[in-house]
Amino acid sequence: MISKVFKFGGASVKDIESVRNLATILKKFENEQLIIVVSAMGKTTNELEKLLKAARTKDSENLQAGLNQLKIFHHHIIYGLFEPEKANNLVDDINTLFLDLENQVRRTDMPFDEHYDATVSYGELLSTRILNAFLKEQGFDMVLIDARNYIITDLRFRFAGVDWNETQIRVKQIPSTYPDKQFYLTQGFIGRAANGSTTTLGREGSDYTAAVFAACLKTPEVWIWKDVPGLLNADPKRFSNTLKINEISYAEAIELAYYGATIIHPKTIKPLQNAGIKLYVKSFLNPEIPPSRIGQPAGSIENIPSYIVKENQCLVSISARDYSFMGERMLHELFGLIDQLHIHVNLIQVSALSLSLCFDEDRNKLKPLIEDLKQNFIVRYNEKLSLFTARHYSPKLAEQLNESHTILLEQRSRSTLQVVVPELRLWQIDEWIKKP
Ligand code: ASP
Ligand code: MG
Repeated sequence: MISKVFKFGGASVKDIESVRNLATILKKFENEQLIIVVSAMGKTTNELEKLLKAARTKDSENLQAGLNQLKIFHHHIIYGLFEPEKANNLVDDINTLFLDLENQVRRTDMPFDEHYDATVSYGELLSTRILNAFLKEQGFDMVLIDARNYIITDLRFRFAGVDWNETQIRVKQIPSTYPDKQFYLTQGFIGRAANGSTTTLGREGSDYTAAVFAACLKTPEVWIWKDVPGLLNADPKRFSNTLKINEISYAEAIELAYYGATIIHPKTIKPLQNAGIKLYVKSFLNPEIPPSRIGQPAGSIENIPSYIVKENQCLVSISARDYSFMGERMLHELFGLIDQLHIHVNLIQVSALSLSLCFDEDRNKLKPLIEDLKQNFIVRYNEKLSLFTARHYSPKLAEQLNESHTILLEQRSRSTLQVVVPELRLWQIDEWIKKP
């Protein structure tokens, strides 16, 4: 019986040492049957995005340079992991993938989103090929399965939705298709639509892949392996004094992910909650540290304050030229358009005459939105803003923020405070939350 789904992100396979460490961790689970979901190595997905951009802007110099760099990066890891002869063979194998990638990225006639998925999916294809060869050499009894044969999605490229019925039918067949395997290794993030196109589930979507496999197989647990000691109450890259959250409910985890805590992909929790699967967030650097637990806590737990920063936000305010109310019908129409443009809104505020929306900056979306609205609406927008969210905030923090920041938009509930500001004084907030 498959007991757990493990997910290893890009940081856990970012170099030779990390891959070796991953194998060492897996040795402790030799008596279990696992699904292992892996992301692209290090920052490969970002590099692939750059390749795509170079290809689409006909910047052949950067395209070639980027391709070469990606090759060198992967080759270097291979030569560090294997004896020369084995390494040569694997490099030959990997180079066929690189050839495919090169052909793929040059197909600039494709619509952007489709082209994106067909291209960036190579990160996970590369990482899992290398990892499969290495883990096999380490003696693990395993099989590499192509996630695209199992995770079946719609055609919403870059944010594909999972076709749960079809996916479940297929995933359930894994144990009987490959009986008695110890580890089933597969790619995170990628899937395939019914028409055969490769799709992706959204940036950082490998967590979600792990949750989908777990939900379909009803495994009791999912473990996400990270380079931090667990779930933290703030991003340690931004704040100096973070706290580890030992246990939280599914609902609270969804709230945090929704507001932009980057630790878990927002779609991950729902399927786990629905199937009663526990989620553990564990450190691959210090595997002996107890993980953060996400599930249905037995008793009541105290929620510690959490702080989330989202940068590169755009704030758009929309009002009718003829002074019409921002009523239900108008909102219906406007949200229809927002949905059509695949804009994911981070914050909404409605007044009598205007609708304000805060979302991640994306010129490809902002421009068509403004174009579309311009005739009937007055549209104003600000860019380069930050969205700061505090969960379980203190009234004092709200006061301090108001006194020190130019707040363009503020929203408060009993549990959550959100502000949109042109300039977030992180160092100041850091001080305040150290001594609340
Ligand atoms: N490699 C993809 C990304 O970086 C998916 C993931 O890491 O979860 O977004
Ligand atoms: Mg990643």
